[in-house]
Amino acid sequence: MKSFSRNILLAILILFLLASFYPFFTGQFNQPEEISLSGLVGDIKNGRVKEITVEGDDLKILLVDGSRRISKKETEVGLTETLMNYGLSEQAFGGLTITIKSPTGLKFWLLMILPFLAPFVLIVLFFWLISRQVQRANVQALGFGRSKARLITPDNKKDRVMFNDVAGVEEAKEELKEIVEFLKSPKKFLAIGARIPKGVLLMGVPGTGKTLLARAVAGEAGVPFFHMSASEFVEMFVGVGASRVRDLFRTAKRAAPSIIFIDEIDAVGRQRGTGLGGGNDEREQTLNQILVELDGFEPNESVIVMAATNRPDVLDPALLRPGRFDRRVMLDLPDIKAREAILKIHARGKLVSEEINFRMIAERTPGFSGADLQSLVNESAIFAARQNRKEVLQNDLIVSIEKVLLGPERKSYILSPKEKKISAYHEAGHALVAASLPESDPVHKISIIARGKAAGYTLKVPPEDRHLFSKGHFLAELAVALGGYASEKLMFKEFTTGASNDLKAATDIARDLVTRYGMSEKIGPQVIGEAGAPVFLGRELSMERMHSEKVAALVDDEVSRFMKNAYKTAMDILNKHKNILEIIAKRLIEKETIEREEFNELIQPFGLAPKSVI
Ligand code: ADP
Ligand code: MG
Ligand code: ZN
Repeated sequence: MKSFSRNILLAILILFLLASFYPFFTGQFNQPEEISLSGLVGDIKNGRVKEITVEGDDLKILLVDGSRRISKKETEVGLTETLMNYGLSEQAFGGLTITIKSPTGLKFWLLMILPFLAPFVLIVLFFWLISRQVQRANVQALGFGRSKARLITPDNKKDRVMFNDVAGVEEAKEELKEIVEFLKSPKKFLAIGARIPKGVLLMGVPGTGKTLLARAVAGEAGVPFFHMSASEFVEMFVGVGASRVRDLFRTAKRAAPSIIFIDEIDAVGRQRGTGLGGGNDEREQTLNQILVELDGFEPNESVIVMAATNRPDVLDPALLRPGRFDRRVMLDLPDIKAREAILKIHARGKLVSEEINFRMIAERTPGFSGADLQSLVNESAIFAARQNRKEVLQNDLIVSIEKVLLGPERKSYILSPKEKKISAYHEAGHALVAASLPESDPVHKISIIARGKAAGYTLKVPPEDRHLFSKGHFLAELAVALGGYASEKLMFKEFTTGASNDLKAATDIARDLVTRYGMSEKIGPQVIGEAGAPVFLGRELSMERMHSEKVAALVDDEVSRFMKNAYKTAMDILNKHKNILEIIAKRLIEKETIEREEFNELIQPFGLAPKSVI
């Protein structure tokens, strides 16, 4: 629309220009004085006229004194005749030189045509400009079958990502080096008849650097990188997805060696034919086309298809067959060393203080993904800038950890005194239960300042990266989760809605204990329902059928038993240490936030040992 109004402006400008040049063409500038025919006749009689040039009906008169005049004769009548009509005798103008110029030449034509042509030209110009707009829109409409892939070319140094921009995922990098080598010199591999993998599937939870790593492979190999999200294949027009896939592969083959990267492939690559309500034809066609293209590679075509997903469990098995995405690379959440390295990578372009201890920040951020860490560093830089500081300090990073974890503080969200009291006892309940159970994570911070969606929070941080969790740990976490709920019941004899998130979290833990980890005695070692695929509704339902109603009832019983036991554990602790609960809650009401050291000082006199946090 912007360029449209610009074009209109242009048209108006041209109009103005033409208008201002018009007089030049018609020769109205520096025009000699015009005299009437009778005036001319008079002049001729007086012998003042030397020469007359006739051009059409125009008369150009040169006087004896050298000056010029113009005049017009009657149309369709010769000059002599005209003059004679005015009563001039033949002798009177016998001495005149009369030249008759046939009115040709550019000027004549311009004069003749321009008055008609000018509006016409303007109209044509106008329509041309309009049609260009329409055309552009048309191209877009007709181009809906084109792939729309974003391309990063190897000579784009600014957007280039290399392996050393990706920290931590060493095994993945090791596996992908082979791909890089192949893309660099495909001939070497083809010469000895090696079959090159066509598809590489990158798997990992969001933010672990799948997209980043795929780009790094292209960067290392120095090949074009065609990037497209699977959901972009599928749009409102049916059949577009498949044609986009075709176009993407065609373009990539032309640029070979190259990489095609299909992000979030689960959007089209879900298991077919199992959805509720008949599934999505468009998606299936797109998936089929991807499979066709993967199978259709000539052995010498050095195009590698990379795809990323965080739901490998829902992918159609056809995608994972040999010869398709048969290379699978798993990206884990970064461990402490990797977190330190990632923090350093993202601190590179920023002004950070020399004293920053990245190791310590890494220690405090278990469970953070690469994307979380990137956002942490960014938040800290914003924080420093808002305080008009020139560099980022250690404390900026520490403050940002909570911001990334919980969302920004909502200082404007004011709790009424009553709400504040309930909130304080609620959080104190969580914290006290956590402090009393050796197997729960240590309390890092308690606060009743609203943050993100939570009215208050108790921040617990696991002392180290853990990969295995014991039943005891889950039971402790369950009790801690219910600590807030129990505390409200104990102190106010009623419940508020503030505990609903806790209850949800606790129920999830309890259900996992029973159905996924085999930690319930009554159910024993078996998995119930297909764990980890709740999104895939159709599948879930059919899986449920594999268990009897009896088992389902038993699961419910067991979940409820775990919940009730946890609630009892929490209640017992709070009852026993009601005095400490009061102290913590009162301190919270007074200061709103209690840090770990202060919390430990509060509980120590009562024989509750502070837990070591790293
Ligand atoms: P995914 O595709 O797995 O969801 P991305 O590749 O989009 O994750 O990662 C998002 C951002 O997080 C990246 O642009 C990068 O800045 C950062 N990041 C993630 N993992 C790493 C890593 N291992 N090293 C460095 N940065 C990372
Ligand atoms: Mg991604
Ligand atoms: Zn709570």
